[in-house]
Amino acid sequence: MVGDGFKVSNFFPMGYNIPQDRLSPFFLLDYNAPVEFSPTDKPRGVGVHPHRGFETVTFAFQGKVAHHDSTGNSGIIGEGDVQWMTAASGVLHKEYHEAEFARKGGTFHMAQLWVNLPAKHKMETPRYQAIKSADMPEVQLPDGRSRARILAGELFGAKGPAKTWSPIIAATIELGADGKAGFELPAGFNSTILVVDGDAAVINGSEAPVHHLVILANDGTAVEVTSANGATLLVLSGEPLNEPIAAYGPFVMNTMEEIHQAMADVQAGKFGVLAD
Ligand code: MN
Repeated sequence: MVGDGFKVSNFFPMGYNIPQDRLSPFFLLDYNAPVEFSPTDKPRGVGVHPHRGFETVTFAFQGKVAHHDSTGNSGIIGEGDVQWMTAASGVLHKEYHEAEFARKGGTFHMAQLWVNLPAKHKMETPRYQAIKSADMPEVQLPDGRSRARILAGELFGAKGPAKTWSPIIAATIELGADGKAGFELPAGFNSTILVVDGDAAVINGSEAPVHHLVILANDGTAVEVTSANGATLLVLSGEPLNEPIAAYGPFVMNTMEEIHQAMADVQAGKFGVLAD
């Protein structure tokens, strides 16, 4: 559990000991496969905590997440929406089940990705992108039974709305029954596919069960995905940063000195103020 509201599997960096140079610029992926939460008047979640040096990208598939941070931003991440928060120089924030969802209870299904920032952008002013489902271009795919929604970068001829600090492609592909999609990712990018819904998919000839993560070999650029009974895939692909990583808890920096500085800055109140 992360706090009392997020029942996650950590696919990386802890889960499977995958080398960072095979995942950069992605640093962490926590996946909350669908789980039932009982009704409560006290929303579950995780209380005030800091972040520095990277971005948190929160995907709500089912259920809703409420968010507040020390720069004054707050919002609700609804089903199909994505919150792309650039913590950069530092924010305090808290993440909870949205109040009405908590009162009713129900199925909760989400993911949080941490995107590392290039050294030269780690101390940028924090930025907050609330990207609604409807903000992402939807592309009907040539098989006539599948579609894609583009979050970041360009895929299937459409550009996603998310602003990123290094080249990243992120998209959701909804394969229909007997669906098939082919696409190219840039050579040298690190690429992963999470099967978030539906049935198993076949990714470049290998079966990928639902709620599993596939890391693509980055020795080619062509990807083919199919599914007999339909599946929803989250495609994440990015140019590696190729910079040293020093990470501790909620901080992802380049050196241990910068980690110690981040801790000192939190203590000194430089991340702002946020009430519990
Ligand atoms: Mn957080």
